[in-house]
Amino acid sequence: MTIPYRHEPFTDFSIQSNREAMEAALEKVSGELGKDYPLVIGGERFVTEEKIVSINPANKEEVVGSVSKATRDHAEKAIQAAAEAFEEWRYTDPVERANILFRAAAHVRRKKFEFTALLVKEAGKPWKEADADTAEAIDFMEYYARQMIELAGGKPINSREGESNSFVYTPSGVTVSIPPWNFLFAIMAGITVAPIVAGNTVVLKPASASPIIAAKFVEVLEEAGLPKGVVNFVPGSGSEVGDYLVDHPITSIVTFTGSREVGTRIFERAAKVQPGQTHLKRVIAEMGGKDTVVVDDDCDIELAAQSIFTSAFGFAGQKCSAGSRAVVHEKVYDQVLQRVIEITESQITGNPEKAETYMGPVIDQGSFDKIMGYIEIGKEEGRLVSGGKGDDSKGYFIEPTIFADLDPQARIMQEEIFGPVVAFSKVSSFDEAIEVANNTEYGLTGAVITNNRKHIEVAKQKFHVGNLYFNRNCTGAIVGYHPFGGFKMSGTDSKAGGPDYLILHMLAKTISETY
Ligand code: NAP
Ligand code: MG
Repeated sequence: MTIPYRHEPFTDFSIQSNREAMEAALEKVSGELGKDYPLVIGGERFVTEEKIVSINPANKEEVVGSVSKATRDHAEKAIQAAAEAFEEWRYTDPVERANILFRAAAHVRRKKFEFTALLVKEAGKPWKEADADTAEAIDFMEYYARQMIELAGGKPINSREGESNSFVYTPSGVTVSIPPWNFLFAIMAGITVAPIVAGNTVVLKPASASPIIAAKFVEVLEEAGLPKGVVNFVPGSGSEVGDYLVDHPITSIVTFTGSREVGTRIFERAAKVQPGQTHLKRVIAEMGGKDTVVVDDDCDIELAAQSIFTSAFGFAGQKCSAGSRAVVHEKVYDQVLQRVIEITESQITGNPEKAETYMGPVIDQGSFDKIMGYIEIGKEEGRLVSGGKGDDSKGYFIEPTIFADLDPQARIMQEEIFGPVVAFSKVSSFDEAIEVANNTEYGLTGAVITNNRKHIEVAKQKFHVGNLYFNRNCTGAIVGYHPFGGFKMSGTDSKAGGPDYLILHMLAKTISETY
């Protein structure tokens, strides 16, 4: 039984006072941009010559801030500092550890609008998306803290006469946390605090596109009373510092969220036992998706269209859960497609700092070029029915783009694009729809829009994804309500924000005493 927690509410920006608070926060954050943040190792600050510069993807000229860039030397120091701090932190009362997370959550809640404004700047998130990211960060802290308190006494097992048995969870060791840039606050915070509250110490290597929110979060944890060395902050290049941290013989856990490519690389490298290593590493790897909204012939057309739209274009499709495929029954195909085009073309895209903007830019030049490349492929493979243009003169803007009439095996039906592009494919039965929905190497999320009870039951069994939703969008999992993680090449199905998550960071110990 989990100690009850109601998730952090989303901010209603139709309320004027909330709109004003957000505008004020954006102004405040704008006035504070451009700061430089050091590495933090064992509580000490290190400033390097070389920097990672974070820019606003909606306005390339605007520097959000910069961070020092760690070398392998720093990575080594960070591992050593984490190993040293572990010897005390591992024996700290779990309730005390949890309290640090509660205090950090309270701090973020007090400054919620400012954090949300920073996410608008650093990742180009529209208000609603940025607000949800901040709320999820708060939720991870609240939820994992409660879960640790609950796990502190272990789980009941049987004792025979003359024997006292217990089953407890103990910390694992030094954890390397490697988050992506897309949930720059929530996932970064989640994969940092989960190992910490479980009694491990962390070396955090943030995504290079979003290091500023991570630097600020490390400050929040320090203010909340986290002892020196329990979290160490080492921004750096994935290939240089990332490999080094993953390979290190002291590293006990690697918790990663990001692409299939990097995730599988980490999985392989962590499996190799290095000289001096005295344990097997554990890898938590949550990776990409190619997620499908299935639309049945018996359905609410408006709900289907809204679900496809929201799933495809929320945060410009830059979610692992993004519904980049709509698999629609031929009887309703034209109607649904037409309605998605209408909804999409009625939305405002552009500057995410404006309250009315639905969709902002994509994260950087690399993403922009990759997505535009897929749009060219889409033009060959299918019929472009909306959007298709990009403009990277000021920021990295791409129109919400819809392709129709795709073969299920087409590249834009199979490969993760990670941008505002959705592909429609027509099917002639529900069975065929489920077959197409399952035909990629991924298995992260999916949605089914149907009024047919029998089809709901079929999908529950046969639609092979980690998060399956009915009559709604396939994005927007909430901590504690929709534990999140995928099958197949979407990762290790760790189910972040779920009841089994924390124990992945711990070693269960059986203790038996004979009287
Ligand atoms: P990415 O390119 O794989 O990067 C993720 C993290 O890995 C970054 O911090 C990156 O550092 C680091 N990295 C790169 N090379 C590394 C190496 N050799 N060793 C160790 N770390 C390395 O992914 P992304 O572009 O940030 O995020 C988008 C991807 O994340 C998408 O595929 C999306 O589906 C996936 N995602 C999955 C979930 C989920 O829960 N399943 C959630 C969100 C996102 P640098 O930034 O310095 O390169
Ligand atoms: Mg940036």
